[in-house]
Amino acid sequence: MSLSGSCFCGKIAYTVDKALTDARACHCSRCRKVFSGASSAYALVQPNSHTWTKGESSLKRYGTEAGWELAFCSECGSTLAGILEGSVHGVTLGTVNGDPKIEIDKHIYVASKASWDHIGGNAPQYPEGAES
Ligand SMILES: [Zn+2]
Ligand SMILES: [Zn+2]
Repeated sequence: MSLSGSCFCGKIAYTVDKALTDARACHCSRCRKVFSGASSAYALVQPNSHTWTKGESSLKRYGTEAGWELAFCSECGSTLAGILEGSVHGVTLGTVNGDPKIEIDKHIYVASKASWDHIGGNAPQYPEGAES
């Protein structure tokens, strides 16, 4: 299987050639800012399955914790990936083209969700983090 993704302006693109795993939506205040929405929508990539196919030099990284960064397009601002210790850790589901073949399987930090956020679907909701 292979998935592709890109940012809003199209300058940056990637492929993922193994199934995404562990899709989650984190509703904490930090993720709302990072993902510019009600929550994150993020899934993990398996090791060595993610390749930047276009525009890697246009990526900007921003990190607030040691070893952890987010990569976004310096042109249009789409957040594309989480980077852990220099390697792509996961991708934002909003940047995947078409069906990512995975659905959000948990909502975390629901206790701090935005007042305007309505969470739909049947995925379990956790007040804080969830071990997985
Ligand atoms: Zn872009
Ligand atoms: Zn969060």
